[in-house]
Amino acid sequence: MFEIVRQFLLNLQNICFPITCYNCGKIVDSEGLCQECWKKIRWIGDPKCKICGVPFEIDACALCPNCLRKKPHFDRAVSVFEYDSFSKIMILKFKHGDKTHICRQLSTWMYRVAQDAIKNADVIIPVPIHFLKRLKRKYNQSELLARELGKLSGIPYEPRILQKEKPTPQQEGLSRNMRLKNINGSFGVDSRYFSTLFKKTVVLVDDVLTTGATINECSKILKKHGAEKVIVLTIARVNLGGDL
Ligand SMILES: [Zn+2]
Ligand SMILES: [Zn+2]
Repeated sequence: MFEIVRQFLLNLQNICFPITCYNCGKIVDSEGLCQECWKKIRWIGDPKCKICGVPFEIDACALCPNCLRKKPHFDRAVSVFEYDSFSKIMILKFKHGDKTHICRQLSTWMYRVAQDAIKNADVIIPVPIHFLKRLKRKYNQSELLARELGKLSGIPYEPRILQKEKPTPQQEGLSRNMRLKNINGSFGVDSRYFSTLFKKTVVLVDDVLTTGATINECSKILKKHGAEKVIVLTIARVNLGGDL
């Protein structure tokens, strides 16, 4: 009897609140993507740049031209899939649509692809946003991801170490130099956490790696305050080959 009631309630729940594909919104059996969307996502595998993680067509070199020219401040960047017009839909739903439940799936994917890279890390830190932006958006999506990753990996999650001290004007459409100028000096480390960072390996979490200017600036500040290694972890990355 109990089983019949349980099944009835489950069916009722599926009718009233159907589970839908994170990307296209089609009704699916379980949380995640429908088959078509799964196939269209450009998952990042090998070969790729050993530092910034930009995917390569062929496995001919260890580093991309950008990392060869000038190494970024972080030691390694790992992303789950490429940021393109298709995967953008899911990212935007997560970012602006209050679809916080997508977070659990995204962070599970992030954890799977980075499990090896972060296994000896000491602390997980989200890329912070300025408090005015947070008030407007209600939550910081990088914090949600980093918190989930903390639970999945068992690595301590510390959202207060890195601070966004100055708001950044809109970065979109700006040249590389303007972007760098925009964010220069806008991040800081809370002095109470200097010892937490000293000689530690930090996992820095963000949603999308675009030009890398933000994560590079954050990594610079973390290292300036004693961090030994910074591993960047994002859901998606733009396939531009660094530009750091
Ligand atoms: Zn779909
Ligand atoms: Zn690279």
